[in-house]
Amino acid sequence: MYKAPRGTSDILPREQGYWRYIEEKASSLCQLYGYERIDTPVFEDARLFIRTIGPGTDIVEKQTYSFEDRSGQEMTLRPEGTAPICRAYIEHGMHNLPQPVRLYYFASIFRYERPQKGRYRQHQQFGFEALGDDDPALDAEVIDMAWQFFAFLGLGGLSLLLNSIGCKLCRPNYLERLKGYYSEHVYHLCQDCKGRLVRNPLRLLDCKKPSCQGVAQSAPRSTEHLCPHCKEHFESVMRYLFLLGIPFEKNHRLVRGLDYYKRTVFEIQPQGEEGAQTALGGGGRYDDLIEELGGRPTPAIGFAAGMERIVLSIRMQGIATAAPSSSTVFVAYLGEGAKDEAVKMTAALRRTGISAISSLGDRSLRAQLRQANALGAAYALILGEEEVASGTVMLRDMARGEQKRVSMDGVVSILDKGNT
Ligand code: AMP
Repeated sequence: MYKAPRGTSDILPREQGYWRYIEEKASSLCQLYGYERIDTPVFEDARLFIRTIGPGTDIVEKQTYSFEDRSGQEMTLRPEGTAPICRAYIEHGMHNLPQPVRLYYFASIFRYERPQKGRYRQHQQFGFEALGDDDPALDAEVIDMAWQFFAFLGLGGLSLLLNSIGCKLCRPNYLERLKGYYSEHVYHLCQDCKGRLVRNPLRLLDCKKPSCQGVAQSAPRSTEHLCPHCKEHFESVMRYLFLLGIPFEKNHRLVRGLDYYKRTVFEIQPQGEEGAQTALGGGGRYDDLIEELGGRPTPAIGFAAGMERIVLSIRMQGIATAAPSSSTVFVAYLGEGAKDEAVKMTAALRRTGISAISSLGDRSLRAQLRQANALGAAYALILGEEEVASGTVMLRDMARGEQKRVSMDGVVSILDKGNT
């Protein structure tokens, strides 16, 4: 028996309501904030991700789904949404548009992870990016939008964590201090962190192992080693957040998993689960990324949230998404002559915008009505020899179990007048 690959899952029809709910809330949020949709390919030149996410990161080292295509070019299934958008920004000359360019996306993301609850090998992200401005008010806009997104969804009990990890001027100095500190505590570190100390010291701070967390607690803080520019920027971001009434917590261990982040980083987590792998979404500034990809200097900031984790939270918090629709009309028939009429009537209903499903095969009326019930049909139309001969049809209200004979010509308008 074949199964969905490990770490992937099917989204069955009965679960689709959650997804549509999130997509609708996300789309109306973007409309409200003036963000436009963009879609990029599922795979890209592998170098795009190595270059942007960073060669020393877990994603690039252990998690990409990469393959050589038939022409020998190395491709990677999208392991995150931002780099492809920066590539598109440059490729389509978006610097000619009014800045910042505000974009949003829904994208499948592929990472070869160890699957567990809320962590999969294929997941779906909703994300948005504002490219072309470094005004701290834009950071506040993006953070506000992320925060409002969860409010739109009706999710409560969340915390917003905020940090600044500096820029290419101040970060090297900070990293030296961090390395110095961690070198003195190397015996308490897990095997992975010993590697990070050499390759990616910033990630030492967000290791989830208890012994490493103890060391991280007293580690030097990036916000205490910012250059004057970054310090002022971070203070302004916080001031705007106060202005907007967005509650946030400064967290010096928040660094995010991708190398391209600069200055502002933030994450939204269920309260009390700080440190666990439960972030619903996160983002930050990536002011050098577009330039590193060959574009003009273009400061930018973005955010992405994991849809599967949001579905889990919506279910856990018992949020009502949408009432199941039961407006379908089921067309039943008895006999070959009536079947022709049923097929025509089903098509006629659909052409007028009424959702309809026709029975199939040769079954008893009882079996057909049982199916109508199982499908949640509001009405059944029943056609027999007698009805065909007299140009009528039985209209059955499934919930009440009542039926009446109506004219075939009139049934569409009866159903159309809000009866369904
Ligand atoms: P990232 O691209 O790592 O910044 O992740 C953004 C958001 O995507 C996270 O906050 C999670 O909600 C979600 N996410 C990241 N990785 C996974 C995964 N492997 N499985 C499910 N959701 C994920």
